[in-house]
Amino acid sequence: MHEGVFIRNAFHFLPPEKLQALPYNISVGFHPWLLNKIDFKIAHKYLAHASKLKNVMAIGEAGFDNVALTPLALQYAFFELQIAIAIQCQRPIIIHCVRAYHLLVPYIKKNHKVIFILHAYSADEGTTKKLLQYENVFFSFGKNMFHRAMIDKQKKLMHMIPLQKLFVETDNSTLQIEKVYEVAASFLKLEMEQLKVETKKNYLDIFKK
Ligand SMILES: [Zn+2]
Repeated sequence: MHEGVFIRNAFHFLPPEKLQALPYNISVGFHPWLLNKIDFKIAHKYLAHASKLKNVMAIGEAGFDNVALTPLALQYAFFELQIAIAIQCQRPIIIHCVRAYHLLVPYIKKNHKVIFILHAYSADEGTTKKLLQYENVFFSFGKNMFHRAMIDKQKKLMHMIPLQKLFVETDNSTLQIEKVYEVAASFLKLEMEQLKVETKKNYLDIFKK
């Protein structure tokens, strides 16, 4: 295990004392799928407080999902809140974005001091080229590498992205992170150890305390 390098999503509204007691690093945020159930004012208070906890390394997942039923206005409101908190606590934000990169890009441009980690990345090549222009954007790959229909596209994307901008993830799957490293390394034609070293460097770069 690489201690301190793993980040897990925290559950919605686990009380701060429980969050703090979790024996690993976490992110806190409001997923675009679930916003209908959350009171905005309570969410704001909660996140402002939770984001200051020591084991909270990032805000998120947050973002936009054009396939979700959540009204867009609500998605905007919660995203702006989470960007504001990410700025306040100087933490990266983990992005969930489905068919909505055109909504996200203005925030990336405007908030160049905020690090955006695009999780489960699988946008098209044109979008990827555009996103690669921004120094504050990182790309994370995981489950999609294991879907047969997505392998070719994932490989192509991963080859477009410099190693200094790359992460791997298990997301909420039961995959072992070792297995994810193994497959990602084989896609990139790298030794697994090299990939681990590179992603750890990236981690240390953007999660400095
Ligand atoms: Zn997601």
